[in-house]
Amino acid sequence: MTKRSIYTTAVHAGERGPAPDFTPVTTPIYNSVGYIYPEMQELDDVFAGSKAGYNYARFGNPTNHALEVALAALEGGEEAVAFGSGMAALHAACLAAGVKAGASVVAAQDLYGATYALLARFFGGMGVRSRFLDLTDLEGVERALAELRPVALVLEVISNPLLKLADVPRLVKLAHAYGAKVIVDSTFTTPYLYRPLEDGVDYVVHSTTKYLAGHGDALGGAVISSAADARPVREALKQVGGNLGPNEAYLALRGLKTFPLRMRQHCANAALAAEWLTAHPAVAHVNFPGLAAHPQHGLARRLFGDRGYGGMISFELRGGDQAAVFRFFEALQLCLPVTSLGDVYTLVLYPAHSSHRSMTPAERAIAQVGPGLVRMSVGIEDPQDIIADLDQALARV
Ligand SMILES: *Cc1c(COP(=O)(O)O)cnc(C)c1O
Repeated sequence: MTKRSIYTTAVHAGERGPAPDFTPVTTPIYNSVGYIYPEMQELDDVFAGSKAGYNYARFGNPTNHALEVALAALEGGEEAVAFGSGMAALHAACLAAGVKAGASVVAAQDLYGATYALLARFFGGMGVRSRFLDLTDLEGVERALAELRPVALVLEVISNPLLKLADVPRLVKLAHAYGAKVIVDSTFTTPYLYRPLEDGVDYVVHSTTKYLAGHGDALGGAVISSAADARPVREALKQVGGNLGPNEAYLALRGLKTFPLRMRQHCANAALAAEWLTAHPAVAHVNFPGLAAHPQHGLARRLFGDRGYGGMISFELRGGDQAAVFRFFEALQLCLPVTSLGDVYTLVLYPAHSSHRSMTPAERAIAQVGPGLVRMSVGIEDPQDIIADLDQALARV
């Protein structure tokens, strides 16, 4: 072997050993950007697409591929495409559905804040017209579909922070009758509760940052669809480049292994906490689809069966204002005031100063996001410890 300098040795030593004749139980993290093949013809075939393989990280990565296979299997879709965040996934799903200058979109009026901004401001600034509607008014939706002939209907199964439900099967029938693709952000429900593709939805989008990865340590997103619908999503990824890093892909893949177990606990804990909060004198109102008093409890049962109602709750402190909510948050010892959701930890958030901050108090009143509204992402701790923490903190409001 030629004797090489320290500079060359530092670059090449140890790398590209013989192909393993063993199979690791979990998919390793492939941080490699490039790939080599013993014969140049093989690389040429990979470029041509006639041979499966990898050539450059933006076009594909084995760790990301393992995550995509797992997500497609969980959603019952033919293909998943992983992205660097939920927003990158939503952006690509919109492009794939045909969102472009001159096109229209019909969307839920209480979408996740960044999704609203993506449609109203980002795409809006490029000449896309979006109309935001109360999707429980199916006649209003049909009128808008007939008038605008949108390329896409964009919605969430459970809305934030009021936890209203969308009647996805009926909305899909309406949208398809007018030629619109349906994009469903399923981040709050996850395939544990509901699989939108089975009801005819075209694109399911996830922020895997939340329940699917589940540990609050990895941003990520994905679009799941049929193989034909995935083609323009994959093109958007290759050309715009919102790729998920392989380290995050590994964390998401690892999170997926326990996600049904965690969801079971999230759902059970949220149901207990919602019941408990309903009976508390300091709480004026609780929003949780599992409560019989929730106006869409029947729809929730129809969509989710007996699997549960998710881990998200929101509630209004009686006569509460920002000062009361801040006292409550500061008194909490177990629950964490963190701007995220779906983690193993119980998290609380104040919508009036975070997700709905840019609205005026009057706009917030119309959106029913009052000054005493608290959103809670119930974690997987022992529910009695969560309730004890809420109890001692509510006593100090
Ligand atoms: C968090 C979230 C997003 C955005 O996902 P990121 O991973 O933060 O980009 C979109 N939709 C919903 C419902 C979310 O909760």
